[in-house]
Amino acid sequence: MTRVLRTREELRAALASAERPVGLVPTLGWLHEGHRSLMRQARAENSTTVVTIFVNPRQFNRPDDFERYPRNEARDIGIADDEAVDIVWAPPVEEVYPPGFDTTVSVGAVAGPLEGAARPGHFDGVATVVAILFALVGAERAYFGQKDAQQVMVIRQMARDLALPTAVIACPTVREPDGLAISSRNVHLSAAERAAAPVLHRALAAARDQWEAGERSGEALRAEMRRVLVDEPLADVEYVSVADGVTLRELAVIDGPALLSLAVRFGATRLIDNVLLE
Ligand code: AMP
Repeated sequence: MTRVLRTREELRAALASAERPVGLVPTLGWLHEGHRSLMRQARAENSTTVVTIFVNPRQFNRPDDFERYPRNEARDIGIADDEAVDIVWAPPVEEVYPPGFDTTVSVGAVAGPLEGAARPGHFDGVATVVAILFALVGAERAYFGQKDAQQVMVIRQMARDLALPTAVIACPTVREPDGLAISSRNVHLSAAERAAAPVLHRALAAARDQWEAGERSGEALRAEMRRVLVDEPLADVEYVSVADGVTLRELAVIDGPALLSLAVRFGATRLIDNVLLE
């Protein structure tokens, strides 16, 4: 049975007698197949698996997005139990940020473009909460989805710079049969928007195909993504990017690993996706 814990003290006590190594899976809840794949990998590689469920107010740059974020803790606990997770830590806000809390972890250049530019303060919120979770859990390994590729890079940078002893493991993006990356936010899509949403993956796949055929111009691949997206009237494109796979600087010419990524709105719902070229 999965143990559901609320306070730092309960977590500390449970971890004191936990079998090592410990694998950590941080989430915002509303668990789905993407989260399940992280839990399975954590369970396969560790003796104890800890899942955190915390809708972190500091990583939402818009209050309406935070309010609207889907929540169903009872269902989440059932899923964690189903995946044989040992511990779910689902704290109230004051257990993560006690009164007087006044520190921000702010990662540099890699947090600047793309999601960092589109969502000011987002990665400060992510880095700060993940630093706290790493400190509280003291896991040997922590698992993150490649679906949020820049997030993985930001957390890797933070863990390296702050000499945090938890290894950061990136796991492949889990998709619906039609290619749509699974996301908690997909629940907000109307039927028409859901039908249109696989255009993100089609745009990325079209650009990847061109890259595989030898195209190395960043602008040509950005144009290819826009060409596919423009045919979908419900898709409101926020950005398309062809960036260096290490620095995330936009590329004129692809001469090494590159990240194709995009952010597209369908009504009030904002979706992101990416493909790594290497
Ligand atoms: P979230 O609850 O959306 O913050 O996601 C928690 C973790 O699950 C993050 O590391 C995400 O990157 C990862 N994740 C979310 N969706 C997927 C997916 N479709 N495939 C793989 N990992 C995912």
